[in-house]
Amino acid sequence: MKRSGKTLLPLTKVYYPCWNCGKKVEVEQRTITYRAFCEQCEKEYNEKKASDLKEYVRLKTIIMHERAMRILEKQKAEVYLYKEASEAVLEFAMQPGEKFSSSHEMVAAMELIRNHFKVKTQQSVGNYRVDFMLPELHVVLEVDGHLHKHSLVKDNERDIEIRKILGAEWEVVRISTKNIEENIDKLTDAIQAIANYKREVRRKHNGIIPEWYSARENNHYAKIIDKSFKRDFK
Ligand SMILES: [Zn+2]
Repeated sequence: MKRSGKTLLPLTKVYYPCWNCGKKVEVEQRTITYRAFCEQCEKEYNEKKASDLKEYVRLKTIIMHERAMRILEKQKAEVYLYKEASEAVLEFAMQPGEKFSSSHEMVAAMELIRNHFKVKTQQSVGNYRVDFMLPELHVVLEVDGHLHKHSLVKDNERDIEIRKILGAEWEVVRISTKNIEENIDKLTDAIQAIANYKREVRRKHNGIIPEWYSARENNHYAKIIDKSFKRDFK
């Protein structure tokens, strides 16, 4: 036994009122830090918690989908062309498990589905979770927010690991949320252009994007992609 200097009180049973109904509940600590429930209330409490969580996920998905539709409307996309894809994305998102982690991902999925691409979302690749896998293009698609440009070196390490697992024919393509907001109808062209560009860079560097490329050159590389995306697809 550890000598704590404190007097050890013998374990005595004490009673606390059920948090819900007030009925006496037997607990084994003098001071309890959790809410005590009687058997009946505990059952009800757990059922309510589970159904609340389900409802929360449902509403969160609906709101995320509504925001996705707003992203389409704001950039004046021909929204009726997205009707079927929009419904398919919502139906898919309602299934158990996290299918999308943002409205921007939902918009990207709508565009991909509308163009008849096979789409897998939120897939585990090794220790990583990727936003999209596009098996026909051998592309892992990541939809990145504005913080992305600060972590290019980390992205590079992630790419190496992902390609090690999926195969060298795969490329990771990152599309900024800004481009999702502004150029959604060019998404599939952009994905293919960027993937091809990356493959070309690799060909020139013995199949890899060299270490020295990551710091200074990677900024340059990101700029080229950004520029070509805007030039070709706006
Ligand atoms: Zn109770």
